[in-house]
Amino acid sequence: MRTEELNVSTFADYDNHEKVVRCIDGDSGLHAFIAIHSRTLGPALGGCRMWAYPAEEDAIKDVLRLSRGMTYKSAISGLPLGGGKAVIIGDPSKDKSEALLAAMGRFVDSFAGTYVTAEDSGTSVEDITRMAMQTRFVAGIRKRRLPDGREVSGDPSPSTAYGVFKGIEAAVRFAHGSTSLSGLRIAVQGVGHVGRNLVSLLTGAGARVIISDIHPYRVEATLAQASATVVKPADILRQDVEVFAPCALGGVISVASLAEIRAPVIAGAANNQLATSAAGFELFSRGKLYAPDYVINAGGIIDIYNERKGYDHAKMLRHIDTIGNTLDRIFEMSKAEQQPTHVMADRLAQERLLKRTISQVA
Ligand code: NAD
Repeated sequence: MRTEELNVSTFADYDNHEKVVRCIDGDSGLHAFIAIHSRTLGPALGGCRMWAYPAEEDAIKDVLRLSRGMTYKSAISGLPLGGGKAVIIGDPSKDKSEALLAAMGRFVDSFAGTYVTAEDSGTSVEDITRMAMQTRFVAGIRKRRLPDGREVSGDPSPSTAYGVFKGIEAAVRFAHGSTSLSGLRIAVQGVGHVGRNLVSLLTGAGARVIISDIHPYRVEATLAQASATVVKPADILRQDVEVFAPCALGGVISVASLAEIRAPVIAGAANNQLATSAAGFELFSRGKLYAPDYVINAGGIIDIYNERKGYDHAKMLRHIDTIGNTLDRIFEMSKAEQQPTHVMADRLAQERLLKRTISQVA
């Protein structure tokens, strides 16, 4: 296994990251990166993504943006954690092997706990469990018991979906004056681990949900547990809905795609939803309300933090409920200062980083 610290300061997404390391392992075919953005508030924690990036530059760009997002997410959520992320170049449906996951575990271990990994798009509880045979610096794999007695896996996706659901309620309240989702039309792009759980919560609250996914088996799994209208992936943006919830990959909101997106509220789980900061300004000038991604999708990291601290389900839910309050504050700041919500969220996160404030959730 060969590892090499990279100088990526020329990348547009570089933001004084502490460390970016490339790993190439000829035996297993592993080609991966780990980026630590900041450990100001604690050890860098962030998931491991596996994706068939077309070029190495795309993977580096992603790991830079995602790791920075984790720093901001933990800071704004009041967690004593820093920001880091891992990406593996490869098709998760074809290129995974025991040897590759073991090599990734050894790569994570080489950070000696300064970086802790977990699930992300393209990796599962089983994959992280494989990595855990090589390193103890993993999270999101411990089984836990819910208050109703059910034992569930350590997958943080249900908690992420719950946080997104609370965030959609907050955004709808701000935009329409009512928290009730009953009868509202909501389009969910991507029904994977988070999207599928979100659809169940939304339909449970009486929303009329429209879904799309590039994989038919994901659509079928969702329809097995909730009723929804299915549209082609190319048609999801232009649905006539009150809320658009991006739950696939990043970059979906661009100046160009905003010409298509009809929903007045954009609130979903995907990381890095804004293709550029300009897209955030554009949606603000179009009068759309955007729930900043790293604020609304923090349920998963809150879950993982709780797992590491000894699991208390009720306490964790109370912490996730604060996502709605943080969004309320960001929406109010945006209205008062006439600035886009993503700018307000960054400012709030930066203030917390500067003050090193960590909330105590009772
Ligand atoms: P996932 O891989 O399980 O699901 C993503 C789904 O999106 C897949 O079903 C995929 O087929 C689909 N998809 C991809 N491109 C699409 C397109 N163009 N149109 C429609 N569908 C498309 O991932 P996930 O764990 O559900 O995460 C979803 C998003 O939320 C990611 O951006 C992830 O980084 C973010 N996120 C996840 C968590 C978590 O707890 N899993 C936490 C925070 C943020």
